[in-house]
Amino acid sequence: MSKTKIIFCDFDGTITEKDNIIDIMKNFAPNGWELIKDQILNQEISIREGVEKLFSLIPSDRKNEIVSYVLSTAKIREGFNEFAAYTKEHNIPLFIVSGGIDFFVYPMLDGIINQNKIYCNGSNFQGETIQILWPHSCDSSCSNDCGCCKPTILRGYDSSRYEKIVIGDSITDLQAAKIADKVFARDFLIEKCEELSIAYDPFSTFYEIVQYLEEKGVRV
Ligand SMILES: [Mg+2]
Ligand SMILES: [Zn+2]
Repeated sequence: MSKTKIIFCDFDGTITEKDNIIDIMKNFAPNGWELIKDQILNQEISIREGVEKLFSLIPSDRKNEIVSYVLSTAKIREGFNEFAAYTKEHNIPLFIVSGGIDFFVYPMLDGIINQNKIYCNGSNFQGETIQILWPHSCDSSCSNDCGCCKPTILRGYDSSRYEKIVIGDSITDLQAAKIADKVFARDFLIEKCEELSIAYDPFSTFYEIVQYLEEKGVRV
């Protein structure tokens, strides 16, 4: 049986040019948030714990301001709209796998990607400060406490039926890249792939990935 291509694409730093959580914190969090960021980067605390702590610094009633801020400042990488349209046209399943939060990821991708194709974290604004929800946490094969666990999501798709393509930019894509059939990498993910001898194609716009799909065809 031949396999069908399926694509898992990161959001922050991949579809958008910059990391939105960092940008949001720079503008909305009180002093001291950098300490939590450093603890995440130094792996003193897990991504899930760190992101939970970061958003708990921000009052819930700033939600709309944050959404407007992201919509007006975040830039979508060149070729993404065309890439999304191409996958639709050729029936290639395209999923967004993001450590971002629904309340800014959904509006950014509105009209380009259906919400049922987006795996990301959830949010609750009922309390004093923003609470993050974790609908896609790690399975028993992952002990990273990822928050939104990308390898767990990939494992949910049958490897005998799908050729899994991962597109990403950073450390949070690494575990998924390890179990992917094909990796498109930029930025820090390139360094990690080099270090661990994971095969990858570098990319800077989504036009390059469209070109790859065009050359390789939908089925393997
Ligand atoms: Mg990223
Ligand atoms: Zn995990």
